[in-house]
Amino acid sequence: MDKVAAQKEIARLTREIEGHNYNYYVLDNPVISDAEYDALLSRLASLESDFPEFLALNSPNRRIGAKVSSGAKTVHHTTKMLSLDNTYSVEDLRAWHDRVLKGLGRTEAVCVAELKIDGVSCALTYENGRLVMAATRGDGEEGEDVTHNVRAMRSVPLELRSVDGAAVPAVLEVRGEVYMDRKDFTEFNNARQLAGDEVFANPRNAASGALKLLDPVESARRKLRFFAHSFGRIDGFRALDSHWEFLMAARALGFAVNNNLCRCTSFSEMASACSKFQEMRPSLAFDVDGVVIKVNLFADQKLLGETMKSPRWAVAYKFPAVQATTLVKDIVVQVGRTGVLTPVAELEPVACAGVMVSRATLHNFAEIARLDVSRGDRVLIERAGDVIPKVVKVVERSSERIAVSKVPADCPVCREGFICADEGMVAFRCINPECPKQLERRLVHFASRGAMDIEGLGEAAAAQLVNNRIVRSVADVFGLSIEQLMGLESFGPKKAEKLVQAIQNSRARGLSRLLFGLGIANIGQKASELLARRFVSLPALMAAEAGELTAVPEMGLVSSQALLKFFAQEETRSLIARLADYGVVMLEGNIPVSGRLSGKTFVFTGELVKYQRTAAGSLVKALGAEVGSTVTKHTSFLVAGAAAGSKLEKARGLGVRILNESEFEEILNA
Ligand SMILES: [Zn+2]
Repeated sequence: MDKVAAQKEIARLTREIEGHNYNYYVLDNPVISDAEYDALLSRLASLESDFPEFLALNSPNRRIGAKVSSGAKTVHHTTKMLSLDNTYSVEDLRAWHDRVLKGLGRTEAVCVAELKIDGVSCALTYENGRLVMAATRGDGEEGEDVTHNVRAMRSVPLELRSVDGAAVPAVLEVRGEVYMDRKDFTEFNNARQLAGDEVFANPRNAASGALKLLDPVESARRKLRFFAHSFGRIDGFRALDSHWEFLMAARALGFAVNNNLCRCTSFSEMASACSKFQEMRPSLAFDVDGVVIKVNLFADQKLLGETMKSPRWAVAYKFPAVQATTLVKDIVVQVGRTGVLTPVAELEPVACAGVMVSRATLHNFAEIARLDVSRGDRVLIERAGDVIPKVVKVVERSSERIAVSKVPADCPVCREGFICADEGMVAFRCINPECPKQLERRLVHFASRGAMDIEGLGEAAAAQLVNNRIVRSVADVFGLSIEQLMGLESFGPKKAEKLVQAIQNSRARGLSRLLFGLGIANIGQKASELLARRFVSLPALMAAEAGELTAVPEMGLVSSQALLKFFAQEETRSLIARLADYGVVMLEGNIPVSGRLSGKTFVFTGELVKYQRTAAGSLVKALGAEVGSTVTKHTSFLVAGAAAGSKLEKARGLGVRILNESEFEEILNA
């Protein structure tokens, strides 16, 4: 390759790689696999080594630079990084809002509510579009220079993106939070534990420690991320009038901005945004500790001004404390859906993060030993993100120590399953495939909101179905009758009918939710979505080879192997065949396929008893039919429920075949 071509190719690869970082971190929509990404990086590296004269300062291969030699340099912030006032109740929030309106002399002011990420505040400075400095907040006036570690974070653009050739700011000091995803944190902590290193209490501590490391290679292992939320300075850029406009501009310039944002006009909108965010808290990928509310217009912000310590135009609405101390009444062993034994501390009930907590996970037996926790101890518990709180440490030991860290010899539930350890000797599991507790947990997971979303099939119902031996496999759920359910405690006719209806409707959820619901090891929600998008149908996915699987973003070697192993099992194949017999949709999206009902068009009208209309539509689509919105002479069937209107008359006029619900069901299940 000649010099000119090499230079062009280096520039092109650089753009492509940074484009993939943008897709991954800002748009949350990766389009290539990790392996393909690494291949691009190494292709660039080999060109750069052949043509060192074109090795750019901001090459993606130079994100991770040399160690810095000594402790951190101090950086003076050009504009002070103020902290926010905290409020802890809706009344306090209302008082703040009243002060804002009074200060502005108006009855309304648009505010922006956004999640408050529990990370480390940092300021990133760009000159002529290039990252030149990154510093921690420190005391607000002076922070530490952490440029070498921030450069190593792929979610931070080394160069600002120019949108449609528009100019990037001459100087931009963008502010935001450096944080660690909970998943990355857990993996990182597990690895430390295995290596015998001290574990971190929470992702924020791990992120803060990582930023201060001298060696960026070490820091990069912690997979830090960055969300932009404000700016200290912006020069030589189009005029921005509001905080909202800034956030949109920041995203366009290449920064990740948290998607959980909303503009509120009234106080009630603001309050409901806060409670909505609080509800989302457990399901987020990262820790948050509240909501930040800012007056949107910069002109209004200027008018309100600031105190010595904090701006008057912004406030933090803090979520309830996530830690509490309480007494350990007992330590018991639970069996999860994959058979893993998890020791759990039963606690004297205590309020934590807004709910009463009476149990906390101890993760595994090594953790019991590490914490040296025993019955009768007072412990500090934390309900950070996960719904299940965890024990952080012992705060006061009881005088009697009862050793409980021993792994039981047989399964505490079925008494039949042998206990087998994984390679790391950290997790122990019951290997009895018919262990009732495992089935119960699998059912609950299958019916959970992110999976098949079957309302009414929670822990209590699952336990009854399993213990009464009505359900022996996940597939049995679809054969449940109202009569069977009514035979159970706490199921009246109404509740039973509702559950059967919810189960029937859930058949149309689609491939990605089904995959996630099956609870395959290492296949989470995101991977399920990407797999479903790529393979569209379950048979196609089951026929895929290892290479095709690892080509999907989020799918590494381990998860691909887990998937292949799962599909190779005889039980899996018979489970899937049974689900298919019950009419569970194994396709993603509304992709027309050839099927039993190909070439037919259905129109629905009126209320059906057993099916929501969209669910009924998905079911026939999965069999190859089309769904129309109006009756024409090309309509094959009009499915008419109660209170059918003009469509029914039109169908009669055109001689279109009309089906009642049970006739429809016959066709569906033929
Ligand atoms: Zn068991």
